[in-house]
Amino acid sequence: MKDVTENLEVVLAHTSMLGECPVWDDQKNSILWLDIVNGDIHEFYPKLSKGKTFTVRQIVGAIRLRTSGGIIAALQNGFAKIDVETGVIEIIGNPESHINGNRFNDGKCDPAGRFWAGTMSISETWNAGNVYVLEPNLSISKKIKGVTISNGMVWSLDRKTFYYIDTPSHQVVAYNYHIVTGNISHKRVVIDIPEVKGYPDGMTIDTEGMLWVALWNGWKVTRWNPYNGKLLYTFSLPVANVSSCVFGGDGLGDLYITSARSGLNEKELTEQPLAGSLFVIKNCGFKGVPEFRFKG
Ligand code: CA
Repeated sequence: MKDVTENLEVVLAHTSMLGECPVWDDQKNSILWLDIVNGDIHEFYPKLSKGKTFTVRQIVGAIRLRTSGGIIAALQNGFAKIDVETGVIEIIGNPESHINGNRFNDGKCDPAGRFWAGTMSISETWNAGNVYVLEPNLSISKKIKGVTISNGMVWSLDRKTFYYIDTPSHQVVAYNYHIVTGNISHKRVVIDIPEVKGYPDGMTIDTEGMLWVALWNGWKVTRWNPYNGKLLYTFSLPVANVSSCVFGGDGLGDLYITSARSGLNEKELTEQPLAGSLFVIKNCGFKGVPEFRFKG
């Protein structure tokens, strides 16, 4: 393991069981993230050093911001709109109400303002999950069948490619993406991540179109070139289960990174007291692009 990245900071003294799905709100200058298994939506204002937590009392797999304010979420009970100020949760629909044992995992909004989110078996049964899309008109359709641990959605800067990770595959795959229809096609592997490096989890993109992949059981966040599959850069962390990352802060020059306590035994938890923390690398040397919001 390389030395821990020098300018890495812990954002606040709080640890999540399964910290995930960081979102930078570029209008409120706040960072949001989840504790999936505890059903917590956290929001923190770095400049004010204060924050709050909203509990949805069920598993929350993914959240994104809406253009009209508030949050769109993929909950245990399906897609929902959440007003974190009033606490109102409005369930939209559950495409897997007939499937016991699945939960939603990671999700993102596409350049047309659709919300994409995948499911997985809580027992991690192979190929038991699917990827769905929630349209701005609130209709739901299935996009990818038979995935295991759905993660890492990103759209290329030219908005013509969709990058996706099914974690146990150890790959980042690309699809042709059509912004008007939302159709994806022509799946191909663009990055192979050797098992020894860890499991690819959450993903984001920078201003040069390079992909940032958090490595679960890999102690790091990594930067990859999707055009030749090469590893370009690594930030090392003091925790094994690095789950996701997003650019935030002024000019989107800070890299926020989530991590987890789940998956670690007691000895590992003692050795990794910061597991489950939200980290930031300020002025990390790279910049992100604003994330898309749900249109509605
Ligand atoms: Ca994840």
